Amino acid sequence: MKVITCIKQVPGITEVKIDAKTGMLVREGIPSIINPMDKNAIELALQLKEQFGAETIVISMGPPQAEEALREALAMGIDKAFLLSDRAFAGADTLATSYTLSMGIKKILKETKVDENYLVICGAQAIDGDTAQVGPELAEELGIPQITLVQKIEILDNKIIAESVFKTEEIMVLETKLPALITVLKELNVPRYPTISGIVEAYEQKSVQVLNAEDLNADKKKIGLDGSQTQVWKIFVPEQKGEHVLLSGTIEEMVQELCKKLKDDKVL
Ligand SMILES: Cc1cc2nc3c(=O)[nH]c(=O)nc-3n(C[C@H](O)[C@H](O)[C@H](O)COP(=O)(O)OP(=O)(O)OC[C@H]3O[C@@H](n4cnc5c(N)ncnc54)[C@H](O)[C@@H]3O)c2cc1C
Repeated sequence: MKVITCIKQVPGITEVKIDAKTGMLVREGIPSIINPMDKNAIELALQLKEQFGAETIVISMGPPQAEEALREALAMGIDKAFLLSDRAFAGADTLATSYTLSMGIKKILKETKVDENYLVICGAQAIDGDTAQVGPELAEELGIPQITLVQKIEILDNKIIAESVFKTEEIMVLETKLPALITVLKELNVPRYPTISGIVEAYEQKSVQVLNAEDLNADKKKIGLDGSQTQVWKIFVPEQKGEHVLLSGTIEEMVQELCKKLKDDKVL
C-alpha cells in the first residue's frame, strides 16, 4: 500500500497580520510550522507503515521554504517527499491548489506503477486559509471516494472503515474501498516527535524532490492565478463593534444591573 499525505506549511501564530496597503498576509519574521492537522495525517501514515509496511510519501505545494516542513515529516519517519514549487503556481485558490496536487499525485503513482492500492490523507483544514476545501476537491480531481472529518479509522484488506464527525455531534461510520482520500481531525491521534537520528537521516540520507509545472505536465489554464476561479477583492480585519461596560457597586447591585441589561438587549 502507498500512503500519500498532503501537508501545508502555515504561519505558526494564531493571529495573522495583514498589510493594509497590499491586502496580503505579512509572513516576514513569522515562524512557519506544519499545519497541525497535517501532523495527525503524518502520524496515521506512519502507523500504517508500521502496521502494513506501507510506503509513505508527503507532498506539498508551496514556495521553496516549504521544504522545511517536508524535512520535518521525513524526520518523523516518512519515506519520501515531493515539493511542487513553481512561480506559475503562485496565487492559486483552492481549486488550482487541488488540481496541482492531483497532478503531482498522479505523476508519483504513474512512476511507481501504483493504480489502486493507495490512500491519500489530508488534514481536515488549514489554520490559515481555513476553507477545508482542498481535501474534497482533490478527491474529485483524482476521481476517488472520500471520507471527511475522520476521527477514527480501521483498515482491513483494501477496505477502510472510518468514523466521520457529522454536524459536530453525530458520528457516521462509513466504509469504502481503496483507493480513497480521507481528511483527518486532531482527535485521530497524537503526532510523534522526530527523533535525533530521524532528523539526521532527514537531512543526510533522504531528499526532497522538487517538481515544477512542466514536470507535472500541468495545464497552464488550471494552475496559479490563471487557474483560480475565485479572486480575493480585499482582506481586512473587521472593526470591533462591541462596547465594554464596567459595572460598579456591590456584587448584588452589579448582578441586578447585568440582568437588567441582558433583558433590555433581549438576551434573557
Ligand atoms: C484567489 C486566491 C488567491 C490566493 N493567492 C494565494 C497566494 O498568492 N499565496 C498563498 O499562499 N495563498 C493564496 N491563496 C490561498 C490558497 O488558495 C490556499 O492557501 C490553499 O488553496 C489552501 O486552502 P486552505 O488554506 O483553505 O486549505 P484547506 O482546504 O483548509 O486545507 C485542507 C488540507 O488540504 C491540504 N492542503 C492545503 N493546501 C495544501 C498545499 N499547498 N500543499 C499540500 N497540501 C495542502 C492539507 O492537508 C490541509 O490540511 C489564495 C486564495 C485565493 C482564493
